[in-house]
Amino acid sequence: MPRVPHPTDHRTLPRARHWSDDAACAGAEAAAFFPVGKGGVPASVLAGDAKATCQRCPVRPECLGHALTFREDYGVWGGLDEDERAELLRQARRAAEKQRRKEREQQKGKADATTAA
Ligand code: SF4
Repeated sequence: MPRVPHPTDHRTLPRARHWSDDAACAGAEAAAFFPVGKGGVPASVLAGDAKATCQRCPVRPECLGHALTFREDYGVWGGLDEDERAELLRQARRAAEKQRRKEREQQKGKADATTAA
């Protein structure tokens, strides 16, 4: 699976233009985007500065899309930390399952109507 370095990563080789070239976090301290809870302060609280940077980032949708598509497990991407992205994915799975159930029930209803006719 191809991996895109976090936009704060400067170790990238020359390459074609990429959404991360316009990242508001380019050149920022990468550790701020990968906070680790310490002293009883949860990582989600320590991620506040990173999330504030994301709020003014012009490529936030692309960044979040990348993180969701490639299941980035750690850090702040697109303004969301890993717990928030996991919840977003759970909600999407629940919505997809609900839609599939609805479609199955509609198909069963049509089949029952055909049988009864
Ligand atoms: S949305 Fe946040 S993490 Fe993503 S490129 Fe922008 S500033 Fe960086």
